[in-house]
Amino acid sequence: MGIPLCELTHAYQGLKDEIDAAMQAVAADGRYILGPNVAALEREIAEYCQCEYAVGVNSGTDALYLALKALGIGPGDEVITTPFTFIATTEAIGLVGATPVFVDIDPHTHNIDPRLIEAAITPRTKAILPVHLYGRPCDMGTIAGIAIRYGLRVVEDCAQAIGATCHGRMVGSFGSAGCLSFFPSKNLGCFGDGGMVVTNDATVYESVEMLRRHGGKVKYHHSRLGLNSRLDELQAAILRVKLKHLDNWNGARRQAAVRYNQLLSDTQGVATPTLDDARETDDIRSVYHQYTIRVHDREHLTSQLSAAGIGYGVYYPCPLHLQEVHQSLGHGEGSFPEAELAAKQCLSLPMFPELTPTQQQEVADCVRQAVAASAAECAA
Ligand SMILES: *Cc1c(COP(=O)(O)O)cnc(C)c1O
Repeated sequence: MGIPLCELTHAYQGLKDEIDAAMQAVAADGRYILGPNVAALEREIAEYCQCEYAVGVNSGTDALYLALKALGIGPGDEVITTPFTFIATTEAIGLVGATPVFVDIDPHTHNIDPRLIEAAITPRTKAILPVHLYGRPCDMGTIAGIAIRYGLRVVEDCAQAIGATCHGRMVGSFGSAGCLSFFPSKNLGCFGDGGMVVTNDATVYESVEMLRRHGGKVKYHHSRLGLNSRLDELQAAILRVKLKHLDNWNGARRQAAVRYNQLLSDTQGVATPTLDDARETDDIRSVYHQYTIRVHDREHLTSQLSAAGIGYGVYYPCPLHLQEVHQSLGHGEGSFPEAELAAKQCLSLPMFPELTPTQQQEVADCVRQAVAASAAECAA
């Protein structure tokens, strides 16, 4: 039958009647742009993320761009971030005219290494942009502490991590702004593009709210250069139905991660995610957007997975400091060795809330056999 990397239609099938009714209600209502569902979803997500305010926008990429713009970050400013993330993170920094300054990752978390941040701060540094990669929260206590000491802003990229907590608090609520994506494959996905900025800062809220609709408070009067970046009413209606199930889905992902770790823990040559975050007692609670292992011979493993009809993902095969678009920053091989090694070894296995123990067993068996075969080849 095969096992996909992620499965997007299960959630719809399970909630079909409710989602269909929500979509039809929007169609019949006629308030297609910034209607009542967007406003209601903003209140619901703000509350969910333990923030005062939320603004629905076009995508997670726009959420990042508009948050930085709202904070007045622009040409001449530096923003500290990780090289091991999706391009949208640095795209947003570059598009406001600022410069991304990379800090290498901690290989155990795949997130920005907080111990290396202070050394990257210069007089031009305006903000730190941590990314909660694979749904695992960054060490926000340490990052927020550094930001306070140096008078820096914090903008969180929560695109993969809605519902994750650090020190018992929701990601997105630590900094000046948290940026969410509702891209279909994210933990809370809609049927197209969508995103949101959450914040406890009234000024950031007002700015993003204005910028998303052409930079004006009053229609046809524009005080700043904004853009068209509104969350669709139709997507908001779908998301309101799905939001009620997010905690269950994230719980199922966490269970699946614990199960994978049990199945793979004694497998030589496979590094599983640190189990700490699979324990309720721990200070961080990951939502496993991806379940990502590290292996030495990734090529052999991916060919075996493909042959067995098992989906996989490589997030990400090339770190951002080695991307052509960032050539002008002057980095090369060796600039951020942990990110470079992770890019060579990381492999994400099938992960979605409906993944069954039997499917996981099949995936684990395939991984074990493939890794044992490459080890035997090495020894020979
Ligand atoms: C998906 C993603 C984004 C961008 O979100 P879009 O809604 O696709 O624009 C940004 N950052 C990270 C880490 C992501 O995974």
